[in-house]
Order: sequence, then C-alpha cells, then structure tokens
Amino acid sequence: MMGLGMRFRALVAAVGLLFLAVTVDAVAETKVNSVRLWRAPDNTRLVFDLTGPVQHSVFTLTAPDRLVIDINGASLGAPLNVNTSNTPITAMRSAQRTPTDLRVVIDLKKAVTPKSFTLAPNAQYGNRLVVDLFDNAADAAPPPAPAPTVATVPAVPVAPAEPSIKLPPAPAGKRDIIVVIDAGHGGEDPGASGSRGQREKDVVLAIARELQRQVNGMKGFRAELTRTGDYFIPLRGRTEIARKKGADLFVSIHADAAPSTAAFGASVFALSDRGATSETARWLADSENRSDLIGGAGNVSLDDKDRMLAGVLLDLSMTASLTSSLNVGQKVLSNIGRVTPLHKQRVEQAGFMVLKSPDIPSILVETGFISNANEASKLTAANHQQALARSISSGVRQFFQQNPPPGTYIAWLRDSGKIAQGPRDHRVNPGETLAMIAVRYQVSPATLRNANNLKSDELKIGQTLTIPGTELAAKE
Ligand SMILES: [Zn+2]
Repeated sequence: MMGLGMRFRALVAAVGLLFLAVTVDAVAETKVNSVRLWRAPDNTRLVFDLTGPVQHSVFTLTAPDRLVIDINGASLGAPLNVNTSNTPITAMRSAQRTPTDLRVVIDLKKAVTPKSFTLAPNAQYGNRLVVDLFDNAADAAPPPAPAPTVATVPAVPVAPAEPSIKLPPAPAGKRDIIVVIDAGHGGEDPGASGSRGQREKDVVLAIARELQRQVNGMKGFRAELTRTGDYFIPLRGRTEIARKKGADLFVSIHADAAPSTAAFGASVFALSDRGATSETARWLADSENRSDLIGGAGNVSLDDKDRMLAGVLLDLSMTASLTSSLNVGQKVLSNIGRVTPLHKQRVEQAGFMVLKSPDIPSILVETGFISNANEASKLTAANHQQALARSISSGVRQFFQQNPPPGTYIAWLRDSGKIAQGPRDHRVNPGETLAMIAVRYQVSPATLRNANNLKSDELKIGQTLTIPGTELAAKE
C-alpha cells in the first residue's frame, strides 16, 4: 500500500525522468572538441576527441568521392581544423543533422576504404572516435621487391607449418641480412614524455633512422623501418611488417618512463614466456603493451591455421629464436654499456607483445629513461643518438658475423674463408697505442675507433677493445 508521500515522490521521480529524456533528446551531451590527423604510407588516420561515448556510422559516396561520418548524440564543440596536405582529403565539413546528430563530410581526391572504431578514455586521452582511411590498392605504392633469395629459388614454398626453417641457400645467392628497425609508438601514441616536453616517439624515430643509415652502410646488411614518420602502427602490425620484409632480426627502439624520475640507464629485453625477470621489466612491459589501448589495434586477426598445431610450432620456433634473441641482445647490451650507463647488466626478459614474432629473433632496446631529466636531454642530442645507434649496429654486426643466416653474403664470406677472423676482444697492454693495435690486427685506426665509439685515440691500460672482423668493416 503506497502512502501519499511515497506516491508524491514517485510522481516527482517520473517527472524527473521525463524531463531528463526530453533534455537528452533536445541537446547532444557529447561534444566533438577536436580532430587530429596522421598520414601513414598507406592510410590516413583521423582521431576525433570527444567528451563522452557516441554511436557512429561511416559510409562512402562517389562522384565526387566523399566519406560521411555520422556521430550520434554529439555536437561540435569547436571548429574542426586540421592540416590535410599529403592526404587524399581536400576538405572537411560538418553540419548538425538533428539537434543530436552531427554529420562530418570529408571531400576526397580519390576513393578510400574506411575502417572506424571508438576508444575508451585512458591516462592520456578521453573518448575518441578513430576513422582510418585506407588508400585503395590500385593507388598504393607497389610492394617492395622480394629478397633476392626468394627470387632465385623457384618453386620452393616456405612451409607455413615450419616457421623456423629458412629457405635453402641459393647457389649463387649472397643476399643481404635484413634488419627491421621499429621506432616505438607514433601518431596519437606519443609514448613516454620528458619534463621538458621531449616525446619518446620523436626520440626513438631519430635513433631508428640513424641506426638504419649505419646498418645500410655495412656491406652485406640492409635495414628497413616499420614506421618512417609520425603515425601509429598496432603492435601486431609491427611484427607483421617485419615478416613481410623478410627480417632476419627485429629491433624495437624505446626510451621510456619509470614511476621514479631517478631511474636511469639503458636496457635490452628479449621475450619471456614465463614471468618478467624484474619488477621494472614487468612495469615496462605493461606500459608498452598498453600502446594498443592508446592507438587502437583495430581488427587483429590470427592466421587461419590450425590453432593447436600453430601453437605447438610457435612454442618450438620461439625457443629457437629466443636463444638468438638473448645472444644478439647481450652483444648489443655490452656495446651500449660503453656509451651510456646500464639499467641492468644482462638481457632482461618480459612479455612484450611486440617481441612475439616466433620465427624472427627480436629484441627491444630501452635506450634510457626519458622521465629522467639528465637522460632526456642526452636522448634528444644528435651525437648521443648516433652513439646509441652505433652501439646497436656494432652488436648486430658481431652477432651475425658469428651466426650468419645461410644464403647471405656474410655466410658466404665466412664459408669461403674471406673473413680472416671474426670479431675479437683485445685488452690494452701498457705502452700500446691505437695505431699499434690497428696494425697488429690489420684494420684501419678509423675502423677501430668506429667499432669502439672512441672519441679520441687515448687508451687506458686494461681497456677492452672490440676488433671487428677484417673484411666486414664497411661498404666500399
Ligand atoms: Zn616505449
């Protein structure tokens, strides 16, 4: 039995609900406050920043080509201004179709294939609507030429069931070793940032480009980048690129933050299938893996192979490439230790998504903590970026001189006795000069300086120098 007071309260509540429904109907609660744009080699990403969640739909129109984005429950909070040069977009217009429905029309130079999704708020951003405009295949640049080995070995398919088995060596094939360099983050995922506004995504792209330049300067090696500009690639997309480019090694470059601004030093990581080897490793892995939440993974589909079989093979080949990853990681780490303090003396292992490439040895290099003021200013300096790149390229070269993949120029050099000796270490004795050591090992003083990141010819007694393999110092 309802008392009068209760009935009154129910009435008030009902009127209140009605009123609420009317206001929602009359004015959209969510504002579209800005739009950001990134151009990648094959797509253009638009990110609309919203004050709340929305429903949306996207469709294309032809003659002329347009893309229509309907955002329901939203209105414009500020004009949508964005620089569309170097994109297929010629103009962006918007209109309120109904009091609650916003329509954005994008005028296009040519047709695109759209893909869209919304992202929930995170530490950096609020609600977002992401619209990717993929260039249509006919307009896209032709794919890069396949590696020579593939071209010279007819009718030998790479069995998908045996990812760890490489193609047989081509008789006359002396292909380059391919190193795929991955600059972390990009686009709307800036990564970590320094106290003076330094952004991880910029620092690591600069180091990645320098590393590419150096690796391309080594005879028998070729370097490719996963991203060549400021745009986002999901974590799985990065390893996918490595596989498409036929990578013999995948190197992901980062410069991260730690909860403590005092944390400093570089680290090298390989994948762990168990737990992380340290608390820092766990923390960094978590923050790197969050990248897809910031940038959005879109539709990630696993290959349509038998899941069970794939899982077993994945395990097997992962173990094989993990040994290589730890080996190359240790070489890179000891070279980095000559140019910057190390966070940990040995290769750490953690569950980084970006390292989960079963058939490709992969390492992740944390070049330093951008959250540390001193390291942040070093990381943005060109000479330090060069030194870091030099230490990574040295480590990579040393690894492949000892473990050249069959069919490569480096393997041919080794097998035909062209490498007088692989890289060695030399401890400096009293009275020895750089010139004397160079003569003894038949390398040039410049090669010695380069291999050891020496800024002057002054040596300390007991100092360990790397003597590079004689035939492999540089491209003619
Ligand atoms: Zn990072």
